[in-house]
Amino acid sequence: MAEFDLIVQIQSYFPHSRDDTHLGIGDDGAVIQSAGALTVVTDTLVEGVHFFPTVAAADLGWKSLAVNLSDLAAMGAQPAWALLNLTLPRDDVEFVAEFSRGFAELAQQFAVELVGGDTTQGPLSVTVTAMGHQPSHPLCRSGARPGDHLFVSGELGAAAWACQTLYREQTPDHKALVCLLKPQPRVELGLRLVALATAAMDLSDGLGADIKHMLKASSRGSRQTLGADIQLQQLPTAAAMTNLSDEQRWSLQLHGGDDYELLFTLPEEALQQLPLIQQETGLTLSCIGRVSDQAGVRYWRPDGHLWTTPKTGYEHFKENAS
Ligand code: ADP
Ligand code: MG
Repeated sequence: MAEFDLIVQIQSYFPHSRDDTHLGIGDDGAVIQSAGALTVVTDTLVEGVHFFPTVAAADLGWKSLAVNLSDLAAMGAQPAWALLNLTLPRDDVEFVAEFSRGFAELAQQFAVELVGGDTTQGPLSVTVTAMGHQPSHPLCRSGARPGDHLFVSGELGAAAWACQTLYREQTPDHKALVCLLKPQPRVELGLRLVALATAAMDLSDGLGADIKHMLKASSRGSRQTLGADIQLQQLPTAAAMTNLSDEQRWSLQLHGGDDYELLFTLPEEALQQLPLIQQETGLTLSCIGRVSDQAGVRYWRPDGHLWTTPKTGYEHFKENAS
C-alpha cells in the first residue's frame, strides 16, 4: 500500500464536519474560516520518548490529539481543526486504521475536524497541530499576582505512577493506566476560566517544573520576582496511590509529568464562582497553595516543615547540557 492509499484510509475516518471548514483533506492546502482570533498549538510524540513501543495504535491516536487539545484548553480556546503529520516505519494498514479510530473518537467529542497533514516513512513519530477559536482574550501564563490562589483540576500523579509501574514490568492500576494512555483535555474548564483566572497552563512536565514556568512568565508580566507556597497534603491524589509513602507520592505528583490537568491562579474575588464551575465541568478543583512575592517555590509538609524535593520535571536534551 502506498502513501496515497494510507491518506485515503485516514480520510475515511474524518468526514467533513464543520461549517467553517471550506476545504479539508485532498488538496494542496486546507481552507478554514474564522471570524476572530485563532489559537494554534502543536506537539510531537516520539516512540521510546513519549510512548512505549507496545502502545495500542488507537491509544496513540487519542493521546496525540489529547495533548494538543490540552494546550488549547490551557489557552481558553475552543478547538476546531487539526493537522496530522505521521511518520511510520512501514505502510501498516491495521495500525493506521486503529490510530485513526482513536484520534477520531476524541476529535468527535470536541467537534474537531482533521483538515490535512503529511505522511512519511521513518521511525514512528506523530506531530499534531491543532487550532481553535479564541472567544475573547487568551488565558496566559503571565498573569499570576502575589496573593492569588493556586488551583489544579482533577488528580495529579496517576499517569506517572502507571508509567513507573510499566517500567518495572508490572501491571498498573486500571484507572491510572487510563490517565496515562487516554488523558481527557480540560476544554470546558479552560473556556470557563477565561473570564476568571489570572493565569493558566496545562501540566505536561510535572507540577514542580511547570509552576516555575508560570512564575517566570508572571514575574516578567508583573515586573517583580514571584514565588509560591504549596501545601503538599492538598495535592489531589488518585485512590490507587494512597498506599504509597508520602515521599513517593509527592515525588510522582511533582516530577512525574503527563497529567494534562490545568494549573491556574484565581484572585480572592473569583473564589465564589468555584462551586458552580465544579458543578458545570464535573471536575474537582483543588486549591494547592498561593502565589507569593518571595522568590522560589516552597513545598510545605503536613507537619508544617519544608520538604526539599529531590529533582525537577522531564526536560529534553537535559542530559546533554553542559
Ligand atoms: P502535497 O504533496 O501536496 O503536500 P500530500 O500528497 O502530502 O500533498 O497530501 C495530500 C492531501 O492529504 C493533503 O490535503 C494533505 O493535507 C492530506 N494528508 C496527507 N497526510 C495526511 C495525514 N497523515 N493526515 C491527514 N491528512 C493528510
Ligand atoms: Mg502539493
